[in-house]
Amino acid sequence: MEIFKNKKRAWLEIDLSAIKHNIEHLSKNLDKNCNIMAVLKANAYNFDSVEIAKYLNKLNIYNFAVATIDEAIELRQANIIGEILVLGYTEFNDLYKLHMYDLTQTIVDISYFELLKKSKLRIKTHIAIDTGMHRLGVDYINKDELLEMFSCKNLTITGIYTHLCTSDGFSKEFENFVKYQLDNFNSVINFLEKNSIKIPKKHVQASTGVLNYPKFKSDFARLGVAIFGVLCSDKTLSNNSKELKEAISLKSKIISTKNVKKEDYIGYSQVYKAKKDMRIATVSIGYCDGYSRSFSNGIGTVLVNGQKTNTVGLICMDLLMIDITNINANVGDIVTLLGKDGKEEISLYELANKSSTITIEVLNHFGERLKKIYFE
Ligand SMILES: *Cc1c(COP(=O)(O)O)cnc(C)c1O
Repeated sequence: MEIFKNKKRAWLEIDLSAIKHNIEHLSKNLDKNCNIMAVLKANAYNFDSVEIAKYLNKLNIYNFAVATIDEAIELRQANIIGEILVLGYTEFNDLYKLHMYDLTQTIVDISYFELLKKSKLRIKTHIAIDTGMHRLGVDYINKDELLEMFSCKNLTITGIYTHLCTSDGFSKEFENFVKYQLDNFNSVINFLEKNSIKIPKKHVQASTGVLNYPKFKSDFARLGVAIFGVLCSDKTLSNNSKELKEAISLKSKIISTKNVKKEDYIGYSQVYKAKKDMRIATVSIGYCDGYSRSFSNGIGTVLVNGQKTNTVGLICMDLLMIDITNINANVGDIVTLLGKDGKEEISLYELANKSSTITIEVLNHFGERLKKIYFE
């Protein structure tokens, strides 16, 4: 079977039914007129943007956002149906491709608008409004500039949006800042209405925006990481976000076992010295597959045949060693480094916390060598 052919060395398993569950849960948090715009940047957080977009098309999702024009073209060339919005900056020389592939470009600020105008190309756009994050967007105060955009002949404005930068937290300060950003966004919308502009599709929330501010009225919610069952960090989990199911597992195999004597060193640089006679196993995965070196020497917990154990010594490029002294483990057995095995589970949050980063960075570090296996 295809699946067994790919279960070699080290691989990722992607549970499409968990993604479906997450879409259903997130949908319950949307206002009835609000649709999902799936954010599939950086190869869909490394889940493979084409595979995921195809699956989401089957679930009747027809709006997508990506970071770059190349990511957008990849989706279009794979026959993905629907509007594809580029969130980032597209170079002047690439603008013709927006039209060619029927893509939508963000107006990232006023000088970028001038560039789009100068191109004289027919381009579909969404305007980003900077309401306080100060990353991308037209300053919400410069409202007259917006009128100029709406009267620009070669641009069709089909959307207007902003991005919240504190929707993940529950402190008064964070909640007040969300309110401040929403007020600024609404002031722009009111101004446009007063000037008889037909308001294009509005979108504001990303994952934590939807989970922490449910039933918010807008046309789209730009959902990224929550589709895959996690938020950036477990420090900001609400009961609502605990309904999400993690959709990815990382697995490898034991390829060799051996006995080592008390006082023997294991691995590079004599970092680990056996305190007793031990049995260890070598597993065919390393930091070049994205299993961080910070999981070296006991920090990393793995599962074998439903039992928990730990790494010993430094993680190598392509290999690592685990302690199997007290567990049942043999050559060929599967080692779960992320995900479930029997009653035990290692979550993305655990990997993120142990390597002092956020879940998205852990996901993005998973290496090209890992085969991706999808199942439902
Ligand atoms: C990345 C991104 C999103 C999606 O964020 P998640 O937290 O992954 O849901 C939405 N909007 C913009 C502008 C983004 O850059």
